[in-house]
Amino acid sequence: MFLLYKKLKYKPFPMNCVNQKTLFRKALHVMGVSDALQLIATLKGLKPVFRTFIGEEDSKELESLCCGAGLDFVYSKFKCLDYPRTQDKSSAYSVRMGKRVSRKSKKHGRLIIYISKSGDLATEACALEGACGGETGKHAVQFGRLLGYPECCIKFWTKYCHKYNLEPIIPSIKSFKSYPFYNNISLKYFDIRLIPHFPCSGDCSFSATIGKRNLMLLRKLNVRHALRFEKMLKTLVLFTQNNGIFLINKYKRHKSTFEFKEFLSSSSSSPIEELLSENGQFTVHNERSIEIGGNLLNRDMVTMIYR
Ligand SMILES: [Zn+2]
Repeated sequence: MFLLYKKLKYKPFPMNCVNQKTLFRKALHVMGVSDALQLIATLKGLKPVFRTFIGEEDSKELESLCCGAGLDFVYSKFKCLDYPRTQDKSSAYSVRMGKRVSRKSKKHGRLIIYISKSGDLATEACALEGACGGETGKHAVQFGRLLGYPECCIKFWTKYCHKYNLEPIIPSIKSFKSYPFYNNISLKYFDIRLIPHFPCSGDCSFSATIGKRNLMLLRKLNVRHALRFEKMLKTLVLFTQNNGIFLINKYKRHKSTFEFKEFLSSSSSSPIEELLSENGQFTVHNERSIEIGGNLLNRDMVTMIYR
């Protein structure tokens, strides 16, 4: 981490704990818990730049919070139109981001805001995303560093992001292996995540260190949320590339078969959701295929166990 700050000519410094709690509580008016946690990590100097979407109606409130905390911010020159409500949440990031239009457009959309203790770094991140496509563009490495991502994960992301439609989970996971729950990003659709990036592998130690540090920070900010995060992140995940993500908190395992009574789903229209509801179990056949109630599904999918 020190090396990263050296590269960015940026030094963190400690902040008052009470101010952080207040900022966290107020930030929850305009953003989710995971984002509010990233905001405080930025305030503490643990993260160079924090980037998030903000509705135009909430932007003034967030600006006032940043000003009060001594944080600089820059807005994207474009806004992203809201994606349709019916859009399957398992769809790729690019789709969920919505179409880019000019910030002056009258259509309702969300702005991207870059927040940092250094106005220069926020401006640099904004410029890299605006002109060069940010994390999918030619300066993706520098952009990832600005957002505080580990080098190994930036390398992994640039290699796989396009091939896996900006959701490169499958190449990072081996079915049946257990992984540290700090690296579980499957619950991002439910606003539960400790790391802001795609880890290069389920057991990436750099990502786990960031996740552990963020959980400790969340405990100080709000114990209830921290307990909820930890409980939810320790889960069995059935991830499919195009048919939703399924989270199973309580299950029984018999060799390669998992039995369960309930599960959370990122998609309400997936055929896999129907099969899981009807059968209450699935069997893993190999790295990329499972069987549910006699139906062999061999589309791209992985089973992840987080502990
Ligand atoms: Zn990594």
